Order: sequence, then C-alpha cells, then structure tokens
Amino acid sequence: ADWEPPGGRAAWQDIRMDSVGDTLQRLRETFSAGRTRPAEFRATQLEGLGRFLRDNKQLLQEALARDLRKGTQLDRAFIRKEPFGLVLIIVPWNYPLNLTLVPLVGALAAGNCVVLKPSEISKNMEQVLAEVLPRYLDQSCFAMVLGGPEETGQLLEHRFDYIFFTGSPRVGRIVMTAAAKHLTPVTLELGGKNPCYVDDNCDPETVANRVAFFRYFNTGQTCVAPDYVLCSPEMQERLLPALQSTIARFFGEDPRSSPNLGRIINDKHFQRLQGLLGCGRVAIGGQSDQSDRYIAPTVLVDVQETEPVMQEEIFGPILPIVNVRSLDEAIDFINRREKPLALYAFSKSSEVVKQVLARTSSGGFCGNDGFMHVSLASLPFGGVGASGMGRYHGKFSFDTFSHHRGCLLRSQGMEKIYSIRYPPYTPRNLRM
Ligand code: NAD
Repeated sequence: ADWEPPGGRAAWQDIRMDSVGDTLQRLRETFSAGRTRPAEFRATQLEGLGRFLRDNKQLLQEALARDLRKGTQLDRAFIRKEPFGLVLIIVPWNYPLNLTLVPLVGALAAGNCVVLKPSEISKNMEQVLAEVLPRYLDQSCFAMVLGGPEETGQLLEHRFDYIFFTGSPRVGRIVMTAAAKHLTPVTLELGGKNPCYVDDNCDPETVANRVAFFRYFNTGQTCVAPDYVLCSPEMQERLLPALQSTIARFFGEDPRSSPNLGRIINDKHFQRLQGLLGCGRVAIGGQSDQSDRYIAPTVLVDVQETEPVMQEEIFGPILPIVNVRSLDEAIDFINRREKPLALYAFSKSSEVVKQVLARTSSGGFCGNDGFMHVSLASLPFGGVGASGMGRYHGKFSFDTFSHHRGCLLRSQGMEKIYSIRYPPYTPRNLRM
C-alpha cells in the first residue's frame, strides 16, 4: 500500500504551503547574514550529507529499490565541449566593435554558426561591419541581420541554439521571453547602476583621478562605469575640489574644446541626460549644448535616492554623490538595490575593501580602481541578478558558447562484473 505520512503530508513537510513566504524569508535572512559563506559552515553541511548517506544506507537502498528498481555504477567519465549550433549575437552601440568581436571570437572558436545583429544606433560601425566583416569569414557559417527593434523582434521569433545579448535590462527581458518559447539558453550582458564606495580613509586626489577617468571614459557611456559615489559628507568636501582639478587637468578649462571628451551618441540620449542634470545640485560642470550633443563632465551633490538620476542607469558624463554616514549604511544602500554589473570600493584599509566585497553581490568587483577587472582575459565578465546572467572573455567565452556534454565510454569487456546490475536481484548477487 502507498505510504501516507501519519497526520497527512502537510504535517511532515518542512515548508507548510500556508507559510511558504515565512520560510523563504527565513532562508533569505540566513543568507543575508552571511551564515552559509564560511568554508567551515559549508564543510559541516556536506559532512552532514555524508553522514546522512552512511547512517541510512540500508533505508535509502530499500527506498530506491522500491521506487525505481534500479542501481547505477559509473566508471570513467569525461566532458566533451561541443558547439551549440546556430548562435545569435545581439550588440549594443556603446562599444560597437569590441562587443561584436569578443563574443564572435568565442562563438566561432567553439565551432558555432553565427547570426550577428549589430546596433542600428552606432550606424557608421553598422555599415562598416556589414560591408567589410563578411569578406573575412566563411559565408557558410556567418550571416548578418541589420535593423532595430522591429527587425530584431522578427529575428527572435526564429529558433536559435544559443542567444548572446548585450544591452539594456529592458530589452534583455524581451530577448529572454522570446528565447523561452524555444527553450533557447541565453547569456544576458546587461547594465545597471554601479556603486562606488569611497571610504574616509582615502587620498582624495588619487580617488578623484581614478573615478573621473573611469566615469568620463567614452563620455560615461560604459556599462561598467562607476555610476554614483557613496561617501560621507566629510569625504565629499575633500573629494569635490580634487574632482574639480582632475576634470580641469583631463579636459582643460573648457572641456567642450577638448579632443579627449567624446559626445553623446544621439539626440534621444542627449535629452535624457539633460533631464538628469536637473537632479540634486550641480557642483561641477553642468553645461550642455544640444547642437553637438555636448554634456560637460558633471558632478551632482544633494541627490535624493528617489530622483531619476538615482533610479536609472546614467550612461553619460554625470556623477552623483550620495552621502552615507558609515560603511554599514553604504552596504545597506547597495544591497537594497538591484545587483550591479560592477562594484567599486576605495579605501587605504584592505579590511574595508574586503568588507564591501564580502557583504555585497555584483557581476564583478574592483578595489581602489575602475573597471580594470574587465580588461583581464583571465577573469570571467558578466552580471548577476538584474545585471545579467552568464559570463565570457578569454576561455570563459569558449565555454559559454559550448555545450558541456557529459559522456561515459565503456568497453564490452568485464561483463561478469557489470552483470550484478541485472535482475533478478537475489541476496547472493547483491552481496557481490
Ligand atoms: P538596447 O538594449 O537598447 O539595445 C541592444 C540591442 O538590442 C541593439 O542591437 C538593438 O537593436 C536591440 N533592440 C533594441 N530594442 C529592441 C527590442 N524592443 N526588441 C528586440 N531588440 C531590440 O541597449 P543599447 O542602448 O544599445 O546599449 C546600452 C545598454 O547596454 C546599457 O544598459 C548598457 O549598460 C548595456 N551594456 C551592457 C554591457 C555588458 O557587457 N554588460 C556592455 C555594453 C552595454
């Protein structure tokens, strides 16, 4: 007869269905408190699982035999990395060559056929790629589709074996929804707001150089740029004059005439950024000119968390500073928001940097500098949570574009030994 728990199934469940929310909350609190992270804690849990198997061997074997009537014996195994097949790569406009080539290298290296969809917004690169790139590749394994949202939407109705998307979280959702229809696996390289914590124990000039360099690089149109600074009001007072002189040194007294400062990609983004200049109070910069889509390297202070500049990814040369009173408050602030693509912490104390690293989550992390971690092919690059899923660069690209096929090969020898698997099961062959 079927086994029924005394008092009904619900009485035995660890999670009662009427209190799932409470249980999930309890588990989340354990996780947030960092309990599951120390190696000792993990080892203890694994030891517990080992004891569970040893202590209950007989019980478990009997249950397996009753449920499934089978056992398995594995010998040598290996992983065969195989290309997925037909891969779609969708590219944004902000690094239109790099974000085309780096995934493309991984996809082709792994042996896939590729459909490439460059960004229609960086239209000059789109044209060059369309005209020139196909000449260098075997046309039987490579194709390009040009167009914007509408054409990409039509493309996404087709079945692909893998989709690699770089772009905004909004479009990332559209891509993942389309992929789900065919159960197509995806890598989503998305954006978001990357916090930059500046501890009181810092040299303001060094921080100003490094933060300004990475914030204003490519006119701020970088997915891993430090998006906002978190620091105490005292550090802000020290940082502002340092940022002022750094910006003047980098771009001159009139940044508009600097050959080292780019322009905003198009009018739509220019207008969006101009709107953000109205948040908080302009401490440095703030000038703009629609006629050549110029926005000065800008620092905003007195910014509220609820203002648009703290709600959306800035993606331009604007750096808001948000005041926090302590490291704990900074970490709370970071953890209240979506998980960022990159996180930066500046402090002369390695303990403070380690604390920020240990008590937060982000796609990548860099202590005391900007997005240097992204430049190393030895490190995986990718987001977590709302900043994306999957990773690439270097060997990780090859792995991303490969299916890891678990394989077992066995010869026809030793049949006598293997024959213990076969029914009928008698006490004698079970003892062998
Ligand atoms: P986007 O999401 O608007 O566009 C990306 C691609 O998707 C383009 O090729 C575009 O044609 C296509 N697209 C746009 N709308 C679509 C729709 N409705 N349906 C289907 N396809 C659509 O992004 P963007 O403005 O080109 O790039 C900026 C964003 O990309 C930022 O959020 C930035 O953080 C992110 N980004 C992330 C990385 C990373 O590596 N994680 C790198 C660069 C940029």
